[in-house]
Amino acid sequence: MYVKFFRCFGCDETYLPQDIESLPIMRCERCGSALDAEYDYDSIKKEIISDNFRRDTPTHWKYWPFLPVSDLSALVTMGEGATPLLEHSAITRSIGAADMYFKYEAQNPTGSFKDRGSSLEITKALELGKKKVVVASTGNMGSSIAAYAAFSNMECVVFVADVAADVKIAQMRAHGADVRMVDGDYRIAMKEAEDYVRDNKDSFLTGDYPWRCEGTKTVGFEILDQLYCKVPDYVIAPIGNGTLLWSLYEAFRDIVGVGMTEHIPRIIGVQAEGCDCVVQAWKDGAHSIEPIDNPKTVATAIACGDPIDGLAALRAMRESDGLGVSVSDDEILAARNGLARHGILVEPSGAVSYAGACKIKDVLVRQTVVCIATGHGLKDMQGL
Ligand SMILES: *Cc1c(COP(=O)(O)O)cnc(C)c1O
Repeated sequence: MYVKFFRCFGCDETYLPQDIESLPIMRCERCGSALDAEYDYDSIKKEIISDNFRRDTPTHWKYWPFLPVSDLSALVTMGEGATPLLEHSAITRSIGAADMYFKYEAQNPTGSFKDRGSSLEITKALELGKKKVVVASTGNMGSSIAAYAAFSNMECVVFVADVAADVKIAQMRAHGADVRMVDGDYRIAMKEAEDYVRDNKDSFLTGDYPWRCEGTKTVGFEILDQLYCKVPDYVIAPIGNGTLLWSLYEAFRDIVGVGMTEHIPRIIGVQAEGCDCVVQAWKDGAHSIEPIDNPKTVATAIACGDPIDGLAALRAMRESDGLGVSVSDDEILAARNGLARHGILVEPSGAVSYAGACKIKDVLVRQTVVCIATGHGLKDMQGL
């Protein structure tokens, strides 16, 4: 694998991969912040600079040199990724964009982009010889990990925040997960999951930790691949824990790193008004994020009041010269219903990026824009 080391977002401390692989919770041991992987781009270049790489269809594991894996015969895959980039002319016109694409992540095996991270996390869990995985979830993370664990004959325990939609809980149960409903928000679910892993040394913690960030990058690689390496002007994504936003930034940075493109798109992070702590920090020019207790929004998948990758998301927005936008629940549901009218069905959180786009149309005029449509509409039909 081509990861050289991991660097802490909070205090810049660096770690060798083998030193953090065995930590019960993959965060900085000094300050508790999230960690960012840095790669050896020269070695990756040797793997990918080939006509085959350019010709191969975009799929998640096509980009393995950019992921922290060594044994390609042991990958766990359920066909995640390879999702379509959809464009509807009426939507493009109504925004005034040159092109307005939707990366339709609903098409993943369990109905959200979480499957990209799960395929890598479950691969790592097996590599480390674990038989049980543990995760905290607002719904989609749990249903994704439950499916991949069942597919790999692993046990799975999910701590579910009280906002989770019923269908997502039914999905976890159908896959045989041990579902533990938490009396409280995602922050409490996360604490319980982390406590469980500390007490049960044979278990493996999954969720918004470094492996997932790496696995989620493939959504960015696919976008560039599908646009024949023409870098879009803007990429818009929702922020829950901030992992998706940071993964997008990392993916574009990696592609610049190996010399296939020259710059990265501007990255716009969108949050629901009831849970917009990262956007507030962006507006205030702050370097820390003020957590929100018991956040309330129809976009339950992004109800994370104390985002693990919040600082990373903030950095993605700042370093890409992007923007932070908040949208109301009414704006989110209107965006979801509008997309449905054009044949694209997403859950409320899946429409948050488009709701953000509608709000800042002026900025997007004649630009090439990609919105990440993160989760399937059948998972949460509130307000339809
Ligand atoms: C997880 C999720 C998000 C938020 O992603 P983060 O990586 O937590 O920021 C957005 N939409 C859907 C449908 C999700 O499942």
